[in-house]
Amino acid sequence: MNNKFDVIVIGTGQSGPFLAVRMAAAGKRVAIIERARFGGTCVNTGCIPTKTLVASAYAAHMAHRAAEFGVEVPGPVRVDMKRVKARKDEISGKSRDGLESWLKGTPNCTVYQGHARFESPTEVRVGEELLTAQEIFINVGGRATIPSLPGVANTPHLTNSTLLDLDILPRHLVIVGGGYIGLEFGQIFRRFGSEVTIIERASRLIAHEDEDVSTEVQAILERDGIQVRLNATCIELTRQGEEVGVSVDCTRGAPEVTGSHLLLAMGRTQNTADLGLEKAGVAHDDRGYVLVDDQLRTNVPGIWALGDCNGRGGFTHTSYNDFEIVAANLLDHETRSVKDRIRAYNLYIDPPLGRCGMTEQEARTSGRHVLMGMRPMTRVGRAVEKGESQGFMKILVDRDSKEILGASILGTGGDEVIHCILDVMYARAPYTVMQKAMHIHPTVSELIPTMLGELRPL
Ligand SMILES: Cc1cc2nc3c(=O)[nH]c(=O)nc-3n(C[C@H](O)[C@H](O)[C@H](O)COP(=O)(O)OP(=O)(O)OC[C@H]3O[C@@H](n4cnc5c(N)ncnc54)[C@H](O)[C@@H]3O)c2cc1C
Repeated sequence: MNNKFDVIVIGTGQSGPFLAVRMAAAGKRVAIIERARFGGTCVNTGCIPTKTLVASAYAAHMAHRAAEFGVEVPGPVRVDMKRVKARKDEISGKSRDGLESWLKGTPNCTVYQGHARFESPTEVRVGEELLTAQEIFINVGGRATIPSLPGVANTPHLTNSTLLDLDILPRHLVIVGGGYIGLEFGQIFRRFGSEVTIIERASRLIAHEDEDVSTEVQAILERDGIQVRLNATCIELTRQGEEVGVSVDCTRGAPEVTGSHLLLAMGRTQNTADLGLEKAGVAHDDRGYVLVDDQLRTNVPGIWALGDCNGRGGFTHTSYNDFEIVAANLLDHETRSVKDRIRAYNLYIDPPLGRCGMTEQEARTSGRHVLMGMRPMTRVGRAVEKGESQGFMKILVDRDSKEILGASILGTGGDEVIHCILDVMYARAPYTVMQKAMHIHPTVSELIPTMLGELRPL
């Protein structure tokens, strides 16, 4: 077999497959290599499976609350974990299979299954095969970090991947890590019926958000019955028969938490250590992120890095946007850059947190004259009607340029509402455009213009 290609893509995450298909459609001979499951993290162990679980957890929660809405649920609400898992596996599996057959059915595109490793700047080995190409795109993503906590080697623990294999309900799930992954899983399993404790080293959850956001997120989780332990230094793990123990040196609370299952949600490690980067001369930092410029080119001409492994994003939409940037630059003769995108992401607890642009803290230190609008969800009609009035929204505006600087929408629909703000930011339109827009009643979005009419200096 002729192993000479125009393009090699390593990894089938959220940018590689789309780039492979675009390149193949442009008439290039493409090889794409996947060592595990097609679709990578998002499809198999990230966004898709967790958001199906979020949906099941929401259904359970609303079933418990049914009487509040005048709906009778005869008998106790019971969660069938096997059916929850089967639903998740079906949705995730369809996406994975669809991607695999799309790639395998694409003309000019050859799919290799195995671990890829650079042999030189233009050569990649997969098992016995040595593939060559002048253009190589790295989309290898990451995996859960297993931190070097004392006792970790001898204490059974779960990661975001292995927790998704469970089809039983943990009696008590102890989660180390109060970031996005820890919080989403925490609320999911609490709503399924587990006791849940979240342990975090910092003095607050999701510490890079504004303090009022962290505080309200913690309150939302605690109202669901989740125990939160902050300022947890000196975390030590122990196996205690069938149980797991986590000793924590917190400023408040018992010095040890004992549970039936332990989830380590303490960050991500990039899949770059076993890629042979040194043989290609590709530079990376000491955390394993491949170094790239604003067009996602590495230091080696002809090699690009996309997705989580380049350290410029960390989300599915940033990885997909990486594909769009690279494809535009190489195929569409446009100049697109990662600098043009505005930070945006959601935290999928219920109610969700939608975020874009600066936090209030960042705005305060930006040296600008900043105006802020705020509204509790108790003053949003739609939220009250739905019986989902936890949280608040806030928006930040530059007084002089009138540009919107950022927003946090923590409340029902916040994951969707954030986009109307994001698009005005992309348009670089003054906030007054949105303030004067007629939004639809009754929605959460209809209060954004109102909030923009009530701006106050920070
Ligand atoms: C629990 C969890 C929930 C998440 N939820 C969200 C969410 O709601 N929204 C969101 O935007 N993001 C979410 N993310 C993040 C999101 O999953 C990733 O940012 C996204 O998958 C982009 O990844 P990627 O394209 O960099 O590569 P990945 O999806 O990680 O894929 C990389 C692929 O490369 C393969 N690979 C690695 N090394 C090699 C090699 N040497 N040879 C061959 N193949 C290789 C891997 O097997 C993998 O299939 C979540 C992540 C987790 C863990």
